Amino acid sequence: MNEHSRAALWQKLAAREMADVVVIGAGINGISVYRELALQGVDVVLIDQGDFCGAASAAPSRMIHGGLRYLETGETALVRESLAERNALLHNAPHYVRPLPTTIPIFYWLAGVGSALSRLFGREPGPSRRGAFIIKAGLWLYDFYTRRRQILPRHKFRSRSATLQRWPALNNQLVCSATYYDAWISYPERLALEMVLDTQASETNSLAMNYVALAKTEGDQLTLIDKISGAQTTLKPKVVINASGAWIDHTNEAMNSASEFIGGTKGSHLIVANDELRAATGDHMIFYETPDGRVCILFPFMDQVLVGSTDLPVDSPDEPYCTPDEEKYILESLAYVFPNIRIEPQQILYRFSGIRPLPRSDAAVTGQISRNHQCRESAATEQRPFPILSMVGGKWTTFRAFGEQVADRVLQHLKHERTVTTDELAIGGGQRYPGDNRTRQNLLNDWQERYNESPARLAQLFDRYGTRAEAVLDYLAAGSDQALRALDNYSEREIGFLIEFEATQTLLDLVLRRTGIGIGGRITPELLVELQALLNRHLSLTEAEGNAMLQHTRDQLRRLHGLADWQLNPAERNSRSA
Ligand SMILES: Cc1cc2nc3c(=O)[nH]c(=O)nc-3n(C[C@H](O)[C@H](O)[C@H](O)COP(=O)(O)OP(=O)(O)OC[C@H]3O[C@@H](n4cnc5c(N)ncnc54)[C@H](O)[C@@H]3O)c2cc1C
Repeated sequence: MNEHSRAALWQKLAAREMADVVVIGAGINGISVYRELALQGVDVVLIDQGDFCGAASAAPSRMIHGGLRYLETGETALVRESLAERNALLHNAPHYVRPLPTTIPIFYWLAGVGSALSRLFGREPGPSRRGAFIIKAGLWLYDFYTRRRQILPRHKFRSRSATLQRWPALNNQLVCSATYYDAWISYPERLALEMVLDTQASETNSLAMNYVALAKTEGDQLTLIDKISGAQTTLKPKVVINASGAWIDHTNEAMNSASEFIGGTKGSHLIVANDELRAATGDHMIFYETPDGRVCILFPFMDQVLVGSTDLPVDSPDEPYCTPDEEKYILESLAYVFPNIRIEPQQILYRFSGIRPLPRSDAAVTGQISRNHQCRESAATEQRPFPILSMVGGKWTTFRAFGEQVADRVLQHLKHERTVTTDELAIGGGQRYPGDNRTRQNLLNDWQERYNESPARLAQLFDRYGTRAEAVLDYLAAGSDQALRALDNYSEREIGFLIEFEATQTLLDLVLRRTGIGIGGRITPELLVELQALLNRHLSLTEAEGNAMLQHTRDQLRRLHGLADWQLNPAERNSRSA
């Protein structure tokens, strides 16, 4: 049995009675603290009731950023930390995190100054417009915080006419624009998974499993359930880290520890296939203000445009989706910034939503709730003899710093020394990454000699997996391969690699998280059928199991991602193309 197969991992988990630390929730924060602790040699188990990086961590706006907007709420320490982490990620994950020029169309000169002064004097104003003066102050601070490691260009302002010359489709009521640099992440789900795989490969005494949930707690013992087989096992932890995001209070309740830490808000995004809109961005992120004073973004993403997001309080964290009202709001605010571009309903290929696990707050406006992260400790009690550390809030960008800080608290509990730091540790396919075009070409030439693949295919795999493409290429070379019939830039063995070596359990894992097929707007009915057949083969699923998985996938894609029948159902597709 492959030592990293699901069966082998469950066997190892079931054989254990104890673990120093159990991390519940494998979103980006749980994965981060798991990696930190495992690298110090701590005996740590990570579980998630769903897939790795499947909830909020799979739904960000894909910005790796300092958070210019947080300067408004006075969170300067968060902005500083975020900028440092952004720079670290550009270095440690260059295969997925890349610089992003960002332009703000500005419609006022002085707006926002009054609100800033009110904040300075401790009053909390509602949302307000942001004029050139206040944006200039924010961008100046941005540059100031990164002056010692200025790896991206400084900001600059453009006059009205220069802006409209560069972006002619923008609303011509603007008075000027500002351009600055942040970063974006192409495959957050893959980067998170790579941290799990890196940790597994470092042969620590740790263990991570997806589709394993906390079922209940009795005294010092947690009962864990394998959501796929239904099997159960128990574990006695010394410390529990509750990294279950928007479910943190539910998870604490399941451990007999009442809490009211979370006040989640839902955010939704659209993936739009509109060439005019894509061209109108001029390959920049457009960071714009909505008529109600919120901030939204759009930027070219894969072959489409990503637009978002909303920020709405919710009662339940389960199965968020983009409602028609949210979609209308996003499209109306887009029409404000690009008034002459019309988006047709069928151009929206995909929608995604997530719940930000923000701290509970009585702020009047959701945008004013802190985006900072905090670790809330529930001390051990007689009935529950282990402490629980809950990881509340945070941004994708700051996962490493948050994980490091929580790991340090756990190390104190365990009286264990820190031996390794992660601030310069390259992740997954970012390891040994060629830093310039010449070394990249040398690497591709080397692969050309070793593998029987075309230069275009090698470049594609490098773009998709960074240097991890080498492991994929080894696997491709070990058997006969062919392109998928329904999506010829993937091959059967490439998908086989993702199933065999990347903890893929379901068709949704494959289309939403191991690949960019879903968010790239590339799902078709034929592709789903073809991928399901590969899953059936690699996971030894019966025909009935495979059919049930395929049907569940279609239902989820329709309900949670707004896919239309023509994208899911062969009959509908045929009648549309007839
Ligand atoms: C719409 C939106 C846009 C965002 N945009 C950005 C952005 O552009 N840049 C940025 O830096 N940040 C952004 N963020 C913030 C960032 O994505 C989140 O703060 C971060 O992903 C939270 O990660 P997490 O690990 O705490 O939670 P999650 O990713 O939600 O993970 C929690 C996990 O716990 C699991 N779980 C729950 N209960 C149990 C149980 N009983 N047993 C086992 N597992 C359990 C869940 O299945 C889930 O996988 C955005 C967030 C949203 C929602």
